[in-house]
Amino acid sequence: MNDHNYNTGFLNYCQICYSKDLLEVINLGYQPLADDLIKVSEFNRECIYYPIKINLCKKCQYLQNNYIVGDKILYNKNYHYRPGISKSVVDNLRMLANETIRNYDLKPEDLVVDIGSNDGTLLSQFKYLGHLNLLGVEPTGTYIFHKDHNINVVNDYFNLKSSQKINSKYGKAKIITTTNVFAHTNKLGDFIKGIKNIIRKDGIFIIENHYLLDVIKKNQFDTFYHEHLRTYSLKSLIRLMELYGFYIYEAKTSDRYGGNIQVHFTLQKVNRSSNVNKILKIETAFGLDNPKTYLKFNSNIEKIKIELFEYFNKNKSKFIVGKAFPARASIIIHYFSFMKDYLQFIAEQPTSLKIKHFVPGTNLEIKSSNLLLKNKPDIMVILAWHLFDVISEKWRQKGLKKTNFVAPLPRLKIYK
Ligand SMILES: [Zn+2]
Repeated sequence: MNDHNYNTGFLNYCQICYSKDLLEVINLGYQPLADDLIKVSEFNRECIYYPIKINLCKKCQYLQNNYIVGDKILYNKNYHYRPGISKSVVDNLRMLANETIRNYDLKPEDLVVDIGSNDGTLLSQFKYLGHLNLLGVEPTGTYIFHKDHNINVVNDYFNLKSSQKINSKYGKAKIITTTNVFAHTNKLGDFIKGIKNIIRKDGIFIIENHYLLDVIKKNQFDTFYHEHLRTYSLKSLIRLMELYGFYIYEAKTSDRYGGNIQVHFTLQKVNRSSNVNKILKIETAFGLDNPKTYLKFNSNIEKIKIELFEYFNKNKSKFIVGKAFPARASIIIHYFSFMKDYLQFIAEQPTSLKIKHFVPGTNLEIKSSNLLLKNKPDIMVILAWHLFDVISEKWRQKGLKKTNFVAPLPRLKIYK
């Protein structure tokens, strides 16, 4: 197969250049899907486990999961995630809409297509700023929320076939965005050909994703969940898109969600922004082209695992809880598997839909954080570790004066 379209199952070659010369960076074993939460009342249902093994392609400079679960299983009508309910995500999407309109002199009648538009939040920001020619493409059940914003949506997977229908009904787009989708799709070739099919000659294709350099720098092995088939560097994105005739125009990095990259491509030969070469230089200076960087990453994770085990073991008579359950916390709990035995429960804010569910594949229950002030835990492990300072300060002030707050990543940290 040499069309960048992959089926469910194992892959022993690079998803971009097909090289078999891959370096195993970390093997997280078999794990349930990170958002396959089981209701306490249906405790006898079991999760299905799939492998997560992360390989480096030395030629392309990115990481890939060597097992593909498949779009139909991951993105169906029961998909839980919705950006519209998180204020920080909405703010970021508003900024993206704002910058796009300003930088590309977008006219109200220019078509904007958002692929993997989820509940229509990004498009609603364009609409708020006066743009009316908008189209979402969303395969999961969240597509119905486009109605709330009165925005057109195609309820389908984006690929060559659906792009043909879009082209004949809506015409070509000036702007195509895709946030946290391009690392996920397994029919990658079809996806890019579809973009080519619906983009204007002067159009811009904007991709936003989690970013390889931040993942390695901050030991974020918890971003390797089944949905993330690829963790791109800028170099790898350019290599892939050039195969399809796209030119890089702009690139930006940010701290959002633990580290993000935004990349703009176009079909016209253009002078690339100076940011592009700046970021490429940073990638090389950091050592993303050096396999040793990834081996060091692996040994960092193993070191954290041992330190955390020893810490728990020393404190096994204490009352220990976990705090917050973003999907990535499931990866931490399964890879640091001893955690299941030490944590009494995981606390989530009282309005969370995850309460009265078990962490996938365990009998560790997610309960309301109202219990924390009653139980006054000795130790609170903050699983949303990228928000460690905010969460620990908040609970200290709420009354947990003697609790020790622990972050597992980017390295073991204890705040007494
Ligand atoms: Zn490759």
